[in-house]
Amino acid sequence: MIDGMLFGRMAFADPDFANEILQNGRIDEKRVCLTCGKCGDLICAHKPTGCVVRNYQTFGKFYQEFMEEKKDLPANFRG
Ligand code: SF4
Repeated sequence: MIDGMLFGRMAFADPDFANEILQNGRIDEKRVCLTCGKCGDLICAHKPTGCVVRNYQTFGKFYQEFMEEKKDLPANFRG
């Protein structure tokens, strides 16, 4: 029915999502990507990247660094 699927941000939000599909037939709705874009901000800022929402303990500090640095960047900064 399909040749392939891409799960970019979903893999950040829930790295175990493929196993959840195989084992439970569905993804844990409490671990899905919310499409906030914060991981994309980390990528553009060349920082360690992952889900800021679902794994704040690891990636929150990098996002806070980004927000501090962003104050000195032009409004149209895209990394
Ligand atoms: S940071 Fe936001 S966009 Fe990125 S994976 Fe997490 S919820 Fe999704």
